[in-house]
Amino acid sequence: MRPLTYIILHHSATDATLGAGDPEGAALWAAIKRNHQRHWAASVKGYICDYHLAVGPTGVIFTGQPLAMVAFNCGNSRLNAVSIAVCFLGNFQVTRMPPAQYAAALPLLRSLLEKHEIAVPHVILHREVPDEKTGIPGFTACPGRWFPSVAMRAALQCPGGGSPHAVMAR
Ligand SMILES: [Zn+2]
Repeated sequence: MRPLTYIILHHSATDATLGAGDPEGAALWAAIKRNHQRHWAASVKGYICDYHLAVGPTGVIFTGQPLAMVAFNCGNSRLNAVSIAVCFLGNFQVTRMPPAQYAAALPLLRSLLEKHEIAVPHVILHREVPDEKTGIPGFTACPGRWFPSVAMRAALQCPGGGSPHAVMAR
């Protein structure tokens, strides 16, 4: 198994689903995987997706690239090599995250942090990834300006927390 020391958060920068027939985003996720497979099929054997996991708008968790394989999720090969890429279906540059999606993400991220012994500061947004050549982040808006990173990080810092009560009790 390759070392897993970072979690990089993304959005799909699309609508969260393919429409009325796709309430959980499963069809959108399948389409994303097909696109990525088409892109990498010739060069990387068994390539499935640029993301290892996805969280749909109703809180369904989808799997993509196996964790043992690198997913080419950001423009920094050093971080690609050691990261777990999680994609939130939706465009948080223009919309807020549905509560069900946020609620499902917390236990998912907690279990990944615990299982792989990743430190909370190593949960980073795609736009925080430093460019490989310049070292400067910010060449993308991903996962969008409305992505609830402040609340999410506070909840992850607080073991078992995430509800307002758990935060206030501290
Ligand atoms: Zn991204």
